[in-house]
Amino acid sequence: MSDLTRDKAFFGFSPGNDAVLHAQQGERLHLTTHDCFSGQLKTPADTLETLDWSITNPATGPIYIEGTKPGDVLRVDLHEVKAHGPSVMIAVPGVGALGHLITEEETVILDHSDDTVTYKDKVVVKQKPMLGVIGVAPAEGTVPNSTPGPHGGNMDCTLITSNTRLYLTVAVEGALFGCGDMHAVMGDGEVVVCGAETPGEVTLTTQVVDIPGLPTPFIENDEIVAVIASAETTDEAYKMALDMMHGFLTNVADIPVNDAAMLMSLVGNLRFCQVVDPLLTVRFEFPKSVLADYGYTLPA
Ligand code: CA
Ligand code: ZN
Repeated sequence: MSDLTRDKAFFGFSPGNDAVLHAQQGERLHLTTHDCFSGQLKTPADTLETLDWSITNPATGPIYIEGTKPGDVLRVDLHEVKAHGPSVMIAVPGVGALGHLITEEETVILDHSDDTVTYKDKVVVKQKPMLGVIGVAPAEGTVPNSTPGPHGGNMDCTLITSNTRLYLTVAVEGALFGCGDMHAVMGDGEVVVCGAETPGEVTLTTQVVDIPGLPTPFIENDEIVAVIASAETTDEAYKMALDMMHGFLTNVADIPVNDAAMLMSLVGNLRFCQVVDPLLTVRFEFPKSVLADYGYTLPA
């Protein structure tokens, strides 16, 4: 097992980043991650005015995955995503999808127990730790970690949690994988602009898999598969997600065109991931049991 600590962080996915770790496929990797503010907001008195924006949205990495090349589908098996706490939340005038209603900036520190967070000594919420930022380098240019896209990045998808597989398409040799922006818990939409932003630790393995035509980013857990799409509007994003899932069901799982469409309407779910980042992210979820009804299972 290799360890990588959160001081080894980058702020934009780019083929120009130097790898801080070379890892084998199948090797268990243990990473610690910063919260999205790099730990700068420690008390309610810490606000965005004093924030150094250049070190927001850090991702631990990048990790060079041996034997990966452009076009490969890289499966990331997230074994455990564990929040350390404390968590921080902010409300800021003009920021996020509710910013037009907020007049006073506020920073809230949430207490942690082993499996809950507590908001203002009043509201106890069960943790479901997830990674907001996770991805690989794009073929060219730099995608800031604030932004989601085909490479992954700031998807803020609540499905990206323990015991989940995320499939990404490698664009550069070695993939240059990284992740961060953990939330101890977050609602779909991330409407105020954050979840319970927390430092934490992740245990994962990576593996190139042969699934021709798989649309990515793609998620698999015990119950469902899902595709993730990001675009400038939610309208564009949801249309992309529908096409991606229908393409998966017909081309990869070999389900007839009309069956795929009707089953997406019958048992599929279109959901928001986030509506507050530079691109907006939605996902489409589909039950694995129905894939099995049609004789398809993803490689073990
Ligand atoms: Ca995020
Ligand atoms: Zn976050």
